Amino acid sequence: MRTEVLIAGAGPAGLTLACELARRGVACLVAERDAEPFAGARGKGLQPRTLEVFEDLGVLERVLELGGAYPPMRAEIDGEVVFTGHMDEPGEPTSDVPYPNGWMLPQWRTGLILRERLTELGGSVTPNAELVSFTQDDDGVTAVLRVDGAEREVRAKYLVGADGGRSTVRRVLDVAFLGETHEEERALLGDVRAEGADRGFWHVWPQGGGGENPFPVTLCPLAGTDTFQLVLPSPPGAAAEPTLEVFQEAVDRAAGPGRIKLTELVWSSVFRPNIRMAERFRVGRVFLAGDAAHVHSPAGGQGLNTGVQDAYNLGWKLAAVLRGADEDLLDSYEAERLPVAADVLGISSALHQKIRDKAADAHRRDDPRLRQLTLGYPDGPLSAEHRTSPTEPYAGDRAPDAVTGRRRLFPLIHTGAPVLLAFGPAAARVARAVAPASTVAIGSPAFPDEEGTAHTAYGVAPGGTALFVLRPDGYIGLATDSPDEAETTAYLARLGAR
Ligand SMILES: Cc1cc2nc3c(=O)[nH]c(=O)nc-3n(C[C@H](O)[C@H](O)[C@H](O)COP(=O)(O)OP(=O)(O)OC[C@H]3O[C@@H](n4cnc5c(N)ncnc54)[C@H](O)[C@@H]3O)c2cc1C
Repeated sequence: MRTEVLIAGAGPAGLTLACELARRGVACLVAERDAEPFAGARGKGLQPRTLEVFEDLGVLERVLELGGAYPPMRAEIDGEVVFTGHMDEPGEPTSDVPYPNGWMLPQWRTGLILRERLTELGGSVTPNAELVSFTQDDDGVTAVLRVDGAEREVRAKYLVGADGGRSTVRRVLDVAFLGETHEEERALLGDVRAEGADRGFWHVWPQGGGGENPFPVTLCPLAGTDTFQLVLPSPPGAAAEPTLEVFQEAVDRAAGPGRIKLTELVWSSVFRPNIRMAERFRVGRVFLAGDAAHVHSPAGGQGLNTGVQDAYNLGWKLAAVLRGADEDLLDSYEAERLPVAADVLGISSALHQKIRDKAADAHRRDDPRLRQLTLGYPDGPLSAEHRTSPTEPYAGDRAPDAVTGRRRLFPLIHTGAPVLLAFGPAAARVARAVAPASTVAIGSPAFPDEEGTAHTAYGVAPGGTALFVLRPDGYIGLATDSPDEAETTAYLARLGAR
Protein backbone atom coordinates (compact mmCIF):
# COMPACT_ATOMS: atom_id res chain seq x y z
CA MET A 1 0.00 0.00 0.00
CA ARG A 2 1.22 3.53 -0.82
CA THR A 3 0.50 6.95 0.65
CA GLU A 4 2.21 10.32 0.79
CA VAL A 5 2.34 10.72 4.58
CA LEU A 6 1.94 7.95 7.14
CA ILE A 7 0.88 9.25 10.54
CA ALA A 8 1.23 6.91 13.50
CA GLY A 9 -1.32 7.81 16.15
CA ALA A 10 -4.74 9.47 16.05
CA GLY A 11 -4.42 11.60 19.18
CA PRO A 12 -4.86 15.37 18.98
CA ALA A 13 -1.44 15.86 17.32
CA GLY A 14 -1.94 13.17 14.65
CA LEU A 15 -5.49 14.28 13.89
CA THR A 16 -4.54 17.96 13.58
CA LEU A 17 -1.75 17.01 11.21
CA ALA A 18 -4.08 14.80 9.17
CA CYS A 19 -6.57 17.68 8.83
CA GLU A 20 -3.79 20.06 7.80
CA LEU A 21 -2.64 17.63 5.10
CA ALA A 22 -6.14 16.68 3.94
CA ARG A 23 -7.18 20.32 3.46
CA ARG A 24 -4.21 20.65 1.08
CA GLY A 25 -5.08 17.51 -0.84
CA VAL A 26 -2.21 15.41 0.50
CA ALA A 27 -2.96 11.70 0.80
CA CYS A 28 -2.23 10.38 4.26
CA LEU A 29 -2.83 7.22 6.20
CA VAL A 30 -3.57 7.69 9.89
CA ALA A 31 -2.72 4.41 11.61
CA GLU A 32 -4.18 4.16 15.12
CA ARG A 33 -3.30 1.26 17.37
CA ASP A 34 -6.54 1.34 19.35
CA ALA A 35 -9.85 0.03 18.07
CA GLU A 36 -11.93 2.80 19.61
CA PRO A 37 -11.35 6.56 19.88
CA PHE A 38 -9.75 7.77 23.14
CA ALA A 39 -12.44 8.04 25.82
CA GLY A 40 -10.85 10.07 28.65
CA ALA A 41 -11.20 13.75 29.54
CA ARG A 42 -7.42 13.95 30.26
CA GLY A 43 -6.16 17.06 28.37
CA LYS A 44 -9.25 19.18 28.85
CA GLY A 45 -7.75 22.69 28.69
CA LEU A 46 -7.51 24.40 25.29
CA GLN A 47 -5.31 27.48 25.24
CA PRO A 48 -6.21 30.66 23.29
CA ARG A 49 -3.67 29.97 20.51
CA THR A 50 -5.17 26.51 20.00
CA LEU A 51 -8.60 28.12 19.61
CA GLU A 52 -7.13 30.26 16.83
CA VAL A 53 -5.70 27.17 15.15
CA PHE A 54 -9.06 25.44 15.51
CA GLU A 55 -10.74 28.44 13.88
CA ASP A 56 -8.43 27.98 10.90
CA LEU A 57 -9.15 24.25 10.81
CA GLY A 58 -12.90 24.93 10.73
CA VAL A 59 -13.74 23.28 14.05
CA LEU A 60 -13.98 26.24 16.41
CA GLU A 61 -17.75 26.53 16.26
CA ARG A 62 -18.14 22.95 17.46
CA VAL A 63 -15.44 23.41 20.09
CA LEU A 64 -17.21 26.46 21.50
CA GLU A 65 -20.64 24.86 21.28
CA LEU A 66 -19.63 21.65 23.05
CA GLY A 67 -17.15 23.02 25.63
CA GLY A 68 -17.34 25.67 28.30
CA ALA A 69 -15.47 28.26 30.32
CA TYR A 70 -13.48 27.12 33.35
CA PRO A 71 -15.44 27.49 36.60
CA PRO A 72 -13.77 29.15 39.59
CA MET A 73 -11.77 26.95 41.92
CA ARG A 74 -12.95 26.35 45.44
CA ALA A 75 -10.43 25.03 47.91
CA GLU A 76 -11.49 23.50 51.20
CA ILE A 77 -9.53 22.33 54.22
CA ASP A 78 -11.38 20.36 56.90
CA GLY A 79 -14.74 21.48 55.51
CA GLU A 80 -13.82 25.17 55.45
CA VAL A 81 -13.55 27.12 52.23
CA VAL A 82 -10.09 28.69 52.19
CA PHE A 83 -10.06 30.03 48.64
CA THR A 84 -12.50 30.76 45.82
CA GLY A 85 -11.37 32.26 42.55
CA HIS A 86 -10.15 31.76 39.03
CA MET A 87 -6.70 30.41 38.23
CA ASP A 88 -6.52 33.16 35.64
CA GLU A 89 -8.97 36.10 35.60
CA PRO A 90 -11.02 35.88 32.39
CA GLY A 91 -10.24 38.69 29.94
CA GLU A 92 -12.37 40.43 27.30
CA PRO A 93 -11.82 39.76 23.60
CA THR A 94 -10.00 42.53 21.75
CA SER A 95 -9.63 43.18 18.03
CA ASP A 96 -6.20 41.51 17.97
CA VAL A 97 -6.91 38.67 20.45
CA PRO A 98 -10.39 37.27 19.76
CA TYR A 99 -10.13 34.37 22.24
CA PRO A 100 -8.29 35.60 25.32
CA ASN A 101 -9.28 32.77 27.67
CA GLY A 102 -8.68 29.07 28.01
CA TRP A 103 -11.62 26.84 27.11
CA MET A 104 -12.54 23.49 28.56
CA LEU A 105 -13.29 20.56 26.30
CA PRO A 106 -12.72 16.96 27.39
CA GLN A 107 -9.94 15.43 25.29
CA TRP A 108 -12.21 12.66 23.98
CA ARG A 109 -14.46 15.33 22.53
CA THR A 110 -11.59 17.27 20.96
CA GLY A 111 -10.56 13.99 19.34
CA LEU A 112 -14.05 13.30 18.01
CA ILE A 113 -14.41 16.82 16.61
CA LEU A 114 -11.07 16.52 14.81
CA ARG A 115 -12.00 13.07 13.46
CA GLU A 116 -15.26 14.47 12.17
CA ARG A 117 -13.41 17.33 10.46
CA LEU A 118 -10.96 14.88 8.93
CA THR A 119 -13.87 12.94 7.44
CA GLU A 120 -15.33 16.16 6.03
CA LEU A 121 -11.97 16.86 4.41
CA GLY A 122 -11.98 13.41 2.81
CA GLY A 123 -9.61 11.65 5.23
CA SER A 124 -10.08 8.89 7.79
CA VAL A 125 -8.43 7.01 10.64
CA THR A 126 -7.50 3.34 10.26
CA PRO A 127 -8.24 1.76 13.66
CA ASN A 128 -6.57 -1.38 15.03
CA ALA A 129 -3.47 -0.46 13.03
CA GLU A 130 -0.28 -0.45 15.08
CA LEU A 131 2.97 0.75 13.58
CA VAL A 132 5.46 -1.97 14.45
CA SER A 133 8.65 -1.07 12.59
CA PHE A 134 10.01 0.89 9.65
CA THR A 135 13.08 1.63 7.60
CA GLN A 136 13.85 4.67 5.47
CA ASP A 137 15.85 5.37 2.34
CA ASP A 138 16.42 8.40 0.10
CA ASP A 139 12.95 8.24 -1.43
CA GLY A 140 10.70 7.26 1.40
CA VAL A 141 9.79 5.14 4.37
CA THR A 142 8.68 1.50 4.40
CA ALA A 143 6.64 0.72 7.48
CA VAL A 144 5.11 -2.43 8.86
CA LEU A 145 1.66 -2.05 10.38
CA ARG A 146 -0.20 -4.70 12.32
CA VAL A 147 -3.75 -4.19 11.08
CA ASP A 148 -6.42 -6.33 12.73
CA GLY A 149 -3.65 -8.74 13.69
CA ALA A 150 -2.13 -9.13 10.21
CA GLU A 151 1.11 -7.46 9.13
CA ARG A 152 0.92 -5.08 6.17
CA GLU A 153 3.60 -3.04 4.48
CA VAL A 154 3.04 0.64 3.73
CA ARG A 155 5.28 2.79 1.58
CA ALA A 156 5.14 6.55 2.26
CA LYS A 157 7.16 9.62 1.37
CA TYR A 158 7.24 10.69 5.02
CA LEU A 159 6.35 9.20 8.41
CA VAL A 160 5.21 11.24 11.41
CA GLY A 161 5.29 9.67 14.85
CA ALA A 162 2.36 11.22 16.72
CA ASP A 163 2.14 8.05 18.76
CA GLY A 164 2.28 9.50 22.27
CA GLY A 165 4.77 9.47 25.13
CA ARG A 166 5.81 5.86 24.61
CA SER A 167 6.32 6.42 20.89
CA THR A 168 7.35 3.40 18.86
CA VAL A 169 8.59 5.75 16.13
CA ARG A 170 10.96 7.47 18.57
CA ARG A 171 12.20 4.11 19.84
CA VAL A 172 12.86 2.74 16.35
CA LEU A 173 14.72 5.95 15.48
CA ASP A 174 16.74 5.49 18.68
CA VAL A 175 16.25 9.15 19.57
CA ALA A 176 16.94 9.84 23.26
CA PHE A 177 14.03 11.06 25.39
CA LEU A 178 15.85 13.23 27.88
CA GLY A 179 14.37 14.21 31.23
CA GLU A 180 12.79 12.62 34.24
CA THR A 181 9.80 10.59 35.39
CA HIS A 182 8.44 11.23 38.87
CA GLU A 183 7.58 7.67 39.88
CA GLU A 184 6.81 8.83 43.42
CA GLU A 185 4.12 11.21 42.19
CA ARG A 186 1.84 8.51 40.80
CA ALA A 187 -1.74 9.73 40.51
CA LEU A 188 -5.05 8.14 39.72
CA LEU A 189 -7.29 9.80 37.19
CA GLY A 190 -11.01 9.13 36.86
CA ASP A 191 -13.91 10.56 34.90
CA VAL A 192 -16.84 10.07 37.27
CA ARG A 193 -20.48 10.78 37.75
CA ALA A 194 -21.18 12.23 41.19
CA GLU A 195 -24.10 13.33 43.32
CA GLY A 196 -23.76 16.17 45.80
CA ALA A 197 -20.87 17.99 44.08
CA ASP A 198 -21.58 21.55 42.97
CA ARG A 199 -20.90 21.82 39.22
CA GLY A 200 -20.26 25.55 39.58
CA PHE A 201 -16.79 24.98 41.06
CA TRP A 202 -13.55 23.12 40.43
CA HIS A 203 -13.19 21.53 43.86
CA VAL A 204 -9.75 21.34 45.40
CA TRP A 205 -8.81 19.66 48.66
CA PRO A 206 -5.21 20.75 49.18
CA GLN A 207 -4.51 18.17 51.86
CA GLY A 208 -6.44 15.43 50.18
CA GLY A 209 -3.39 13.47 49.11
CA GLY A 210 -2.69 12.51 52.70
CA GLY A 211 0.70 11.78 54.25
CA GLU A 212 3.66 13.46 52.61
CA ASN A 213 2.02 13.78 49.22
CA PRO A 214 1.98 17.48 48.33
CA PHE A 215 -0.59 17.19 45.56
CA PRO A 216 -4.27 18.01 46.10
CA VAL A 217 -7.32 15.91 45.32
CA THR A 218 -9.35 17.73 42.68
CA LEU A 219 -12.81 17.26 41.21
CA CYS A 220 -13.51 19.33 38.11
CA PRO A 221 -16.92 19.48 36.39
CA LEU A 222 -16.31 18.69 32.74
CA ALA A 223 -17.95 21.27 30.51
CA GLY A 224 -20.59 19.95 28.13
CA THR A 225 -20.98 16.66 30.04
CA ASP A 226 -22.53 15.37 33.26
CA THR A 227 -19.19 14.02 34.47
CA PHE A 228 -16.30 15.27 36.60
CA GLN A 229 -12.56 14.71 36.27
CA LEU A 230 -11.18 13.40 39.55
CA VAL A 231 -7.44 13.49 40.20
CA LEU A 232 -6.24 11.55 43.19
CA PRO A 233 -2.58 11.64 44.14
CA SER A 234 -1.54 8.23 45.28
CA PRO A 235 0.75 8.18 48.33
CA PRO A 236 4.30 6.92 47.66
CA GLY A 237 4.44 3.17 47.49
CA ALA A 238 0.68 2.80 47.40
CA ALA A 239 -0.50 0.32 44.83
CA ALA A 240 -4.08 1.60 44.73
CA GLU A 241 -5.83 1.02 41.46
CA PRO A 242 -8.35 3.49 40.04
CA THR A 243 -11.62 1.89 41.15
CA LEU A 244 -14.85 3.61 42.18
CA GLU A 245 -14.27 2.39 45.77
CA VAL A 246 -10.76 3.88 45.94
CA PHE A 247 -12.01 7.19 44.53
CA GLN A 248 -15.01 7.24 46.91
CA GLU A 249 -12.82 6.64 49.95
CA ALA A 250 -10.54 9.50 48.89
CA VAL A 251 -13.43 11.89 48.30
CA ASP A 252 -14.94 10.96 51.68
CA ARG A 253 -11.59 11.66 53.32
CA ALA A 254 -11.15 14.97 51.51
CA ALA A 255 -14.69 16.39 51.47
CA GLY A 256 -16.13 14.68 54.52
CA PRO A 257 -17.99 11.34 54.63
CA GLY A 258 -21.31 11.11 52.83
CA ARG A 259 -21.08 14.54 51.23
CA ILE A 260 -20.33 13.48 47.66
CA LYS A 261 -21.48 10.15 46.28
CA LEU A 262 -19.66 8.85 43.23
CA THR A 263 -22.16 6.90 41.18
CA GLU A 264 -20.17 5.78 38.15
CA LEU A 265 -16.60 5.53 36.94
CA VAL A 266 -16.72 6.26 33.23
CA TRP A 267 -13.00 6.16 32.44
CA SER A 268 -9.82 5.84 34.49
CA SER A 269 -6.07 5.68 34.24
CA VAL A 270 -2.89 5.91 36.29
CA PHE A 271 -0.26 8.49 35.47
CA ARG A 272 3.17 9.59 36.63
CA PRO A 273 4.39 13.07 35.74
CA ASN A 274 6.95 12.80 32.99
CA ILE A 275 9.05 15.74 31.96
CA ARG A 276 10.97 14.70 28.87
CA MET A 277 11.94 15.90 25.44
CA ALA A 278 13.24 14.10 22.38
CA GLU A 279 16.77 15.06 21.41
CA ARG A 280 15.68 15.43 17.79
CA PHE A 281 12.32 16.04 16.17
CA ARG A 282 13.40 14.86 12.72
CA VAL A 283 15.56 12.06 11.41
CA GLY A 284 15.58 12.06 7.61
CA ARG A 285 12.05 11.43 6.41
CA VAL A 286 10.66 10.76 9.86
CA PHE A 287 9.29 13.37 12.27
CA LEU A 288 8.13 13.34 15.88
CA ALA A 289 5.18 15.46 17.04
CA GLY A 290 3.12 15.90 20.20
CA ASP A 291 3.81 13.73 23.24
CA ALA A 292 6.12 11.58 21.11
CA ALA A 293 8.44 14.61 21.03
CA HIS A 294 7.84 16.10 24.49
CA VAL A 295 5.87 15.17 27.60
CA HIS A 296 4.89 17.64 30.28
CA SER A 297 3.52 17.88 33.76
CA PRO A 298 -0.25 18.40 33.43
CA ALA A 299 0.25 21.64 35.42
CA GLY A 300 -0.57 24.55 33.14
CA GLY A 301 -2.42 22.50 30.52
CA GLN A 302 0.27 22.62 27.83
CA GLY A 303 0.75 19.09 26.48
CA LEU A 304 -2.12 18.69 24.05
CA ASN A 305 -1.85 22.33 23.00
CA THR A 306 1.84 22.04 22.21
CA GLY A 307 1.18 18.91 20.13
CA VAL A 308 -1.51 20.73 18.14
CA GLN A 309 0.98 23.54 17.46
CA ASP A 310 3.62 21.02 16.34
CA ALA A 311 1.18 19.59 13.83
CA TYR A 312 0.11 23.05 12.67
CA ASN A 313 3.75 23.94 12.07
CA LEU A 314 4.57 20.71 10.24
CA GLY A 315 1.45 20.18 8.10
CA TRP A 316 1.83 23.02 5.59
CA LYS A 317 5.57 22.38 5.28
CA LEU A 318 5.10 18.71 4.41
CA ALA A 319 2.38 19.63 1.92
CA ALA A 320 4.57 22.31 0.32
CA VAL A 321 7.58 20.00 -0.04
CA LEU A 322 5.41 17.21 -1.46
CA ARG A 323 4.21 19.72 -4.07
CA GLY A 324 7.70 20.82 -5.06
CA ALA A 325 9.09 23.21 -2.40
CA ASP A 326 12.72 22.84 -1.39
CA GLU A 327 13.32 20.04 1.15
CA ASP A 328 15.12 22.60 3.36
CA LEU A 329 11.73 23.87 4.45
CA LEU A 330 11.38 20.71 6.52
CA ASP A 331 14.51 21.52 8.53
CA SER A 332 12.67 24.50 9.95
CA TYR A 333 10.27 22.17 11.82
CA GLU A 334 12.81 21.05 14.41
CA ALA A 335 14.57 24.43 14.39
CA GLU A 336 11.29 26.16 15.29
CA ARG A 337 9.49 23.63 17.45
CA LEU A 338 12.26 22.17 19.58
CA PRO A 339 13.08 25.49 21.34
CA VAL A 340 9.37 26.16 21.86
CA ALA A 341 8.86 22.71 23.39
CA ALA A 342 11.87 23.29 25.66
CA ASP A 343 10.42 26.63 26.85
CA VAL A 344 6.98 25.14 27.44
CA LEU A 345 8.52 22.26 29.39
CA GLY A 346 10.36 24.79 31.55
CA ILE A 347 7.13 26.66 32.27
CA SER A 348 5.03 23.60 33.12
CA SER A 349 7.85 22.14 35.22
CA ALA A 350 8.12 25.37 37.23
CA LEU A 351 4.36 25.23 37.90
CA HIS A 352 4.65 21.59 38.88
CA GLN A 353 7.41 22.49 41.35
CA LYS A 354 5.22 25.21 42.88
CA ILE A 355 2.48 22.66 43.59
CA ARG A 356 5.07 20.32 45.05
CA ASP A 357 6.38 23.17 47.27
CA LYS A 358 2.83 24.13 48.26
CA ALA A 359 3.62 27.70 47.16
CA ALA A 360 0.91 30.26 48.00
CA ASP A 361 0.44 31.05 44.29
CA ALA A 362 0.63 27.45 43.07
CA HIS A 363 -2.91 27.63 41.69
CA ARG A 364 -2.23 30.74 39.57
CA ARG A 365 -2.22 30.23 35.80
CA ASP A 366 -1.90 33.88 34.75
CA ASP A 367 1.51 33.64 33.12
CA PRO A 368 0.66 34.96 29.63
CA ARG A 369 3.01 32.41 28.06
CA LEU A 370 0.57 29.64 29.04
CA ARG A 371 -1.90 31.00 26.48
CA GLN A 372 0.70 30.26 23.80
CA LEU A 373 -0.06 33.55 22.02
CA THR A 374 3.39 34.93 22.67
CA LEU A 375 5.19 31.82 21.43
CA GLY A 376 6.79 32.30 18.07
CA TYR A 377 9.82 31.74 15.93
CA PRO A 378 11.68 35.08 15.78
CA ASP A 379 15.04 33.27 15.84
CA GLY A 380 13.92 30.58 13.40
CA PRO A 381 15.29 30.12 9.89
CA LEU A 382 12.11 31.38 8.20
CA SER A 383 11.94 34.71 10.02
CA ALA A 384 13.08 37.61 7.85
CA GLU A 385 12.91 40.89 9.77
CA HIS A 386 13.93 43.51 7.21
CA ARG A 387 12.47 46.70 8.66
CA THR A 388 14.85 49.51 9.52
CA SER A 389 13.33 50.19 12.96
CA PRO A 390 11.29 47.10 13.75
CA THR A 391 8.53 47.21 16.34
CA GLU A 392 6.27 44.48 17.66
CA PRO A 393 5.06 42.19 16.20
CA TYR A 394 8.37 41.03 14.74
CA ALA A 395 9.02 38.54 11.98
CA GLY A 396 8.42 35.14 13.57
CA ASP A 397 5.69 36.40 15.91
CA ARG A 398 2.06 35.33 15.74
CA ALA A 399 0.17 37.40 13.17
CA PRO A 400 -2.50 39.20 15.23
CA ASP A 401 -6.14 39.50 14.31
CA ALA A 402 -7.64 42.93 13.48
CA VAL A 403 -10.85 44.41 12.16
CA THR A 404 -11.06 45.69 8.61
CA GLY A 405 -14.36 47.29 7.73
CA ARG A 406 -16.96 44.86 9.00
CA ARG A 407 -14.68 41.86 8.69
CA ARG A 408 -12.09 40.25 10.89
CA LEU A 409 -8.65 39.69 9.49
CA PHE A 410 -8.30 36.05 10.64
CA PRO A 411 -10.76 34.56 8.15
CA LEU A 412 -8.89 36.47 5.42
CA ILE A 413 -5.51 35.04 6.42
CA HIS A 414 -6.77 31.54 7.24
CA THR A 415 -6.52 30.42 3.65
CA GLY A 416 -4.06 27.55 4.09
CA ALA A 417 -1.53 29.51 1.99
CA PRO A 418 0.75 32.54 2.53
CA VAL A 419 -0.95 35.96 2.57
CA LEU A 420 0.62 39.33 1.74
CA LEU A 421 -0.55 41.96 4.18
CA ALA A 422 0.25 45.36 2.70
CA PHE A 423 0.12 48.74 4.40
CA GLY A 424 0.34 51.81 2.15
CA PRO A 425 0.19 52.11 -1.65
CA ALA A 426 3.82 51.16 -2.31
CA ALA A 427 3.46 47.87 -0.42
CA ALA A 428 0.09 47.20 -2.05
CA ARG A 429 1.63 47.69 -5.53
CA VAL A 430 4.39 45.18 -4.83
CA ALA A 431 2.04 42.66 -3.23
CA ARG A 432 -0.45 42.85 -6.10
CA ALA A 433 2.31 42.48 -8.66
CA VAL A 434 3.64 39.36 -6.93
CA ALA A 435 0.50 37.58 -5.74
CA PRO A 436 -2.71 39.52 -6.43
CA ALA A 437 -5.04 36.78 -5.19
CA SER A 438 -3.19 36.56 -1.87
CA THR A 439 -2.98 40.29 -1.19
CA VAL A 440 -4.83 42.01 1.61
CA ALA A 441 -4.12 45.73 1.13
CA ILE A 442 -5.03 47.38 4.40
CA GLY A 443 -6.47 50.88 3.89
CA SER A 444 -7.74 50.10 0.38
CA PRO A 445 -11.50 50.35 -0.33
CA ALA A 446 -11.79 46.55 0.04
CA PHE A 447 -9.98 46.43 3.38
CA PRO A 448 -10.53 49.76 5.15
CA ASP A 449 -8.94 50.43 8.51
CA GLU A 450 -10.96 53.40 9.71
CA GLU A 451 -10.45 52.58 13.35
CA GLY A 452 -6.80 51.83 12.82
CA THR A 453 -6.93 48.42 14.53
CA ALA A 454 -4.88 46.73 11.80
CA HIS A 455 -2.23 49.48 11.81
CA THR A 456 -2.03 49.28 15.61
CA ALA A 457 -1.94 45.47 15.71
CA TYR A 458 0.92 45.37 13.20
CA GLY A 459 2.79 48.37 14.64
CA VAL A 460 2.48 50.47 11.47
CA ALA A 461 2.11 54.25 11.90
CA PRO A 462 -0.85 55.88 10.08
CA GLY A 463 0.24 56.45 6.50
CA GLY A 464 3.27 54.18 6.98
CA THR A 465 4.56 51.57 4.54
CA ALA A 466 5.02 47.91 5.48
CA LEU A 467 4.67 44.56 3.82
CA PHE A 468 4.22 41.40 5.88
CA VAL A 469 4.27 37.95 4.34
CA LEU A 470 2.15 35.80 6.64
CA ARG A 471 2.95 32.10 6.71
CA PRO A 472 0.19 29.53 6.24
CA ASP A 473 0.30 28.85 9.99
CA GLY A 474 -0.39 32.47 10.90
CA TYR A 475 3.10 33.68 11.83
CA ILE A 476 4.84 36.67 10.29
CA GLY A 477 7.49 35.39 7.88
CA LEU A 478 8.90 38.43 6.10
CA ALA A 479 8.49 41.96 7.48
CA THR A 480 9.79 44.85 5.42
CA ASP A 481 9.28 48.59 5.07
CA SER A 482 10.98 48.71 1.65
CA PRO A 483 8.77 46.32 -0.32
CA ASP A 484 10.50 44.77 -3.27
CA GLU A 485 9.07 42.39 -5.85
CA ALA A 486 12.15 40.20 -6.21
CA GLU A 487 12.61 39.83 -2.46
CA THR A 488 8.93 39.03 -1.90
CA THR A 489 8.88 36.50 -4.74
CA ALA A 490 12.02 34.81 -3.42
CA TYR A 491 10.60 34.65 0.10
CA LEU A 492 7.33 33.13 -1.11
CA ALA A 493 9.33 30.53 -3.02
CA ARG A 494 11.02 29.53 0.25
CA LEU A 495 7.56 28.86 1.68
CA GLY A 496 6.75 26.75 -1.35
CA ALA A 497 4.23 29.19 -2.81
CA ARG A 498 4.24 29.35 -6.60
C1 LIG B 1 -4.00 14.39 34.11
C2 LIG B 1 -3.66 14.99 32.80
C3 LIG B 1 -4.20 16.24 32.50
C4 LIG B 1 -3.83 16.87 31.31
N1 LIG B 1 -4.35 18.11 31.06
C5 LIG B 1 -3.99 18.76 29.93
C6 LIG B 1 -4.55 20.04 29.60
O1 LIG B 1 -5.37 20.60 30.33
N2 LIG B 1 -4.13 20.62 28.46
C7 LIG B 1 -3.22 20.02 27.63
O2 LIG B 1 -2.83 20.65 26.63
N3 LIG B 1 -2.73 18.80 27.88
C8 LIG B 1 -3.08 18.15 29.00
N4 LIG B 1 -2.60 16.89 29.24
C9 LIG B 1 -1.70 16.25 28.25
C10 LIG B 1 -2.43 15.66 27.05
O3 LIG B 1 -3.35 14.68 27.46
C11 LIG B 1 -1.39 15.05 26.09
O4 LIG B 1 -0.35 15.99 25.89
C12 LIG B 1 -2.02 14.72 24.72
O5 LIG B 1 -2.87 13.61 24.81
C13 LIG B 1 -0.92 14.41 23.69
O6 LIG B 1 -1.50 14.21 22.43
P1 LIG B 1 -0.76 13.33 21.32
O7 LIG B 1 -1.66 13.33 20.15
O8 LIG B 1 0.62 13.82 21.15
O9 LIG B 1 -0.63 11.90 21.95
P2 LIG B 1 -1.73 10.89 22.50
O10 LIG B 1 -2.96 11.62 22.91
O11 LIG B 1 -1.06 10.05 23.50
O12 LIG B 1 -2.10 10.03 21.23
C14 LIG B 1 -1.22 9.07 20.69
C15 LIG B 1 -2.03 8.05 19.91
O13 LIG B 1 -1.13 7.14 19.28
C16 LIG B 1 -1.64 5.83 19.40
N5 LIG B 1 -0.48 4.93 19.28
C17 LIG B 1 0.47 4.65 20.19
N6 LIG B 1 1.40 3.82 19.67
C18 LIG B 1 1.03 3.57 18.40
C19 LIG B 1 1.59 2.80 17.34
N7 LIG B 1 2.73 2.12 17.50
N8 LIG B 1 0.94 2.75 16.14
C20 LIG B 1 -0.22 3.43 15.95
N9 LIG B 1 -0.79 4.19 16.93
C21 LIG B 1 -0.17 4.26 18.13
C22 LIG B 1 -2.32 5.80 20.76
O14 LIG B 1 -3.27 4.77 20.83
C23 LIG B 1 -2.93 7.19 20.80
O15 LIG B 1 -4.24 7.22 20.25
C24 LIG B 1 -2.94 16.23 30.41
C25 LIG B 1 -2.45 14.96 30.69
C26 LIG B 1 -2.79 14.34 31.88
C27 LIG B 1 -2.25 12.99 32.18
